[in-house]
Amino acid sequence: MKTIGLLGGMSWESTAAYYRHINEAVRQRLGGLHSATLLLYSVDFAEVERYQREGDWGAAGTRLAQAAQVLEAAGADFVVLCTNTMHKVADAIEAAVAIPLLHIADATAADIAPHAFTTVGLLGTRFTMEDDFYRGRLRERHGLEVLTPPPADRDLVHRVIYQELCVGTVSDDSRAAFREVMAGLAGRGAQGLILGCTEIALLVGAADASVPLFDTTRLHARLAVERALTTPRDSGAAG
Ligand code: GLU
Repeated sequence: MKTIGLLGGMSWESTAAYYRHINEAVRQRLGGLHSATLLLYSVDFAEVERYQREGDWGAAGTRLAQAAQVLEAAGADFVVLCTNTMHKVADAIEAAVAIPLLHIADATAADIAPHAFTTVGLLGTRFTMEDDFYRGRLRERHGLEVLTPPPADRDLVHRVIYQELCVGTVSDDSRAAFREVMAGLAGRGAQGLILGCTEIALLVGAADASVPLFDTTRLHARLAVERALTTPRDSGAAG
């Protein structure tokens, strides 16, 4: 089994979910007492969020690249960046290490592919919904048309992520609001909805939408386990 390098803490509420998903998947695959071999570098999210707010993506990239180097030096075989938003600096991380970065958008698109959907809705932070690093990758590499909510709904989703979900607050009012936002996207033609923020599945699930939901946290974690167990260098998947 390869060693998964988790770069987390953004927020730790969802990094905890990654840890659970990864270990559940390893147990499902290998059974018994098997659990994942992994390293976790967890940052102080307040620092990263300040870089985001100030638009200092250069500093954010440098900080996360440094964390990825620590994971590499400690023996990680690949990096799993446990946030959609910070994939905005994926290039800086990839340039700083020799080990691969498992991109969260690719993990998600791989799960959408068998559905043969052409149009999906995207919920996430303002950066993920509005900048091109995420939608562009889905469009150019995976042929997906990506719908985002109208501006007022994007504000709501962004606010709930930072002011509630990232600090451990899960509210019925916000769940109801997200249901409406998701219904709006489905009504505009989204055949599936990407929960493109690693905390959103803490708030809503399949029962809250009329179309399939793609939980990036779970899909990214599952791909990490696939990679850890089935890559060519693997010699101990069964043992
Ligand atoms: N975890 C979130 C995401 O998947 C938002 C927090 C962050 O900005 O990293 O985008």
